[in-house]
Amino acid sequence: MNLIFLGAPGAGKGTQAEIVSEKFNIPAVSTGNIIREAMKNGTEMGTKAQEFVQKGELVPDEVVIGIIKERLAESDCANGFILDGFPRTIPQAEALIEMGVKIDKVIDIEVPDEKIAERMSGRRVCPQCGASYHIEYKKPKKEGICNSCGSELIIRKDDKPEVVLDRLNVYHTQTEPLISFYKEKGILVEIEGQEEVADTTALTLKALGGNA
Ligand SMILES: [Zn+2]
Repeated sequence: MNLIFLGAPGAGKGTQAEIVSEKFNIPAVSTGNIIREAMKNGTEMGTKAQEFVQKGELVPDEVVIGIIKERLAESDCANGFILDGFPRTIPQAEALIEMGVKIDKVIDIEVPDEKIAERMSGRRVCPQCGASYHIEYKKPKKEGICNSCGSELIIRKDDKPEVVLDRLNVYHTQTEPLISFYKEKGILVEIEGQEEVADTTALTLKALGGNA
């Protein structure tokens, strides 16, 4: 079963991808991770990617696609895989087709922007030891103070609502066309992200049930 997981940053797509990966015993291939791996292993495409990273430039599509191609050719992908974080744009989706990669289902985890901004603005991190908290879901023992080292917790710049909403806008501009693209192909499954991770998982697994 070859899957793509779509979803806004903060919608919980990565978590769902991990759970499905374990349940169906297929690897979750996250673009960020495989690029780092390819560079570390010095594969042909990894070496190319390294050149861009060293210059502080974005790794171009053709190199990312080359790395994905290398990764999907590995034996653990024989029974299927989950692409997490790719494609993000129509040209990337088209490149996948050109590569001959057949996709069975595209799972789109939908969470309203306000909800995501609200969740993320509740995050707190410890600048000293890196421990992370949430004012609702993972409260520190003492408000605003790190359990492990006693430092004062901070809000990361990336978690501030205005920054989160900005990133969400970019996501929508780039990815909304992708949703219609896969809808037209009849392989899009829209999952409404729930308050509890387990409830979202139940919906996701149900949607994939036919292929279990
Ligand atoms: Zn700490």
